[in-house]
Amino acid sequence: MRALHELGVSELAAAIADRKTSSVEAAQHLLARAKAHAALGAYLAFNEDATLAQARAADARVAAGERTPLLGVPIAHKDIFVTRDFPSTAGSKMLEAYQSPFDATVVQRLAALGAVTLGKLNCDEFAMGGSNENSAYAVAHNPWDASRVPGGSSGGTAVAVAARLLPAATGTDTGGSIRQPASFCGVTGIKPTYGRCSRYGMVAFASSLDQAGPMARSAADCALLLSAMAGPDIDRDSTSLDHPAEDYTALLETPREGATAAQPLKGLRIGLPREFFGEGCAPDVIAAVRAALAEYEKLGATLVDVSLPRTELAIPVYYIIAPAEASSNLSRFDGVKFGHRAAQYGDLIDMYKKSRSEGFGPEVQRRIMIGTYVLSHGYYDAYYLKAQQIRRLIAQDFQQAFTQCDLIAGPVAPTVAWKIGEKSNDPVANYLADIYTLPGSLAGLPGMSVPAGFGAGGLPVGLQLLGNHFQEGALLQVAHAFQQATDWHTKSPEGC
Ligand code: GLN
Repeated sequence: MRALHELGVSELAAAIADRKTSSVEAAQHLLARAKAHAALGAYLAFNEDATLAQARAADARVAAGERTPLLGVPIAHKDIFVTRDFPSTAGSKMLEAYQSPFDATVVQRLAALGAVTLGKLNCDEFAMGGSNENSAYAVAHNPWDASRVPGGSSGGTAVAVAARLLPAATGTDTGGSIRQPASFCGVTGIKPTYGRCSRYGMVAFASSLDQAGPMARSAADCALLLSAMAGPDIDRDSTSLDHPAEDYTALLETPREGATAAQPLKGLRIGLPREFFGEGCAPDVIAAVRAALAEYEKLGATLVDVSLPRTELAIPVYYIIAPAEASSNLSRFDGVKFGHRAAQYGDLIDMYKKSRSEGFGPEVQRRIMIGTYVLSHGYYDAYYLKAQQIRRLIAQDFQQAFTQCDLIAGPVAPTVAWKIGEKSNDPVANYLADIYTLPGSLAGLPGMSVPAGFGAGGLPVGLQLLGNHFQEGALLQVAHAFQQATDWHTKSPEGC
């Protein structure tokens, strides 16, 4: 058998079920490996006792004859999900001492199926960022080139999967935070339809956009995790969709209508938004994406030209709506009910000011100020309301495009991963890099990043696939077909 860290989710589950290894052995191996690669900055916290207790419980279920797809498989969670047995910081000093009394629904669902939690993964503070540089705790490094960012905000998740520290992990995506780090680190990630996974126990950033999703090496492994994570939670999340859980793994192998053995994607129409391929996208990224699309044509898909005319507006619209919601969500961190409280202060207002100034980092403070401003009397109509109106038009553009195609494809980000520090003093440069992920987020659509090759400096490039609402099964199936025919997703960085 190959080394345990080389196995993907289904291989590791099979090895555990067949007693070739145990969950305890796998967890110990991966914890040791995580510690040996601590310099990557993937993890923020461990609790070895809790991990091993979960692994022993999984091994007991295996011994009792249970054989389910995630039983005993070690994973980890982005530190945006609250967990009873591990710290829950959201990457912020504000929650440094916070101990959650409960597990997020997504955490609880994965645990119920026997997945074992190795620890909590690094992220941008309150999921605000696209480079992981806004984490209050640690710099995360791209395992393909340690001088570069891994992307964000689910940077730790992408690093851990890419460096083979674990077979799969959870992330969250508000404006691209699963797709973009997956692209930068060469792993597969999926953000489902808004409302598909429960937000209960996910520290809120922008509630109308936040979604949970998995990253793994392959679409097939993502399907295993997403089948467990998705599904209604209407009593605990008012925006949870009342749509039954699906078995995405079964869907992977269900032949599409019109499929042939040589052309499993025959009849599939992939729309290429011309706004995603124009000026502003680096030539190395375009080249890798085009090569992947040529592969899709070989698999039987046809490429059609579509337009998402308001693509550029997604940036100002998102950077009004997301900070507006964030400023409201983060008002709960006042040093009384939740979060850090300053050691010394005068009156109550002074206590709020000092606690929040000390607890929140610069990007979070910037967004609270922007959000408060766009919601204030006299500006609400000009900014927030206008942004909501344009958001609706952006969503309509997708519906128009989906009359001509089944799925949409393009780059995830305009460049490969940039150097650590390169954009850290320029918030607008960071915001602009989100151009291709924000439109789908604003429309609530499911999206994926699929490893599609390498660009400048040998750095990974992801192909973004976007589907209409509830099309995550189709996305996974189409990504799986590509991964059956190519091996980009099997490549790992040197030394990992
Ligand atoms: N990069 C985007 C931002 O900074 C998206 C973050 C996310 O999806 N959580 O807001």
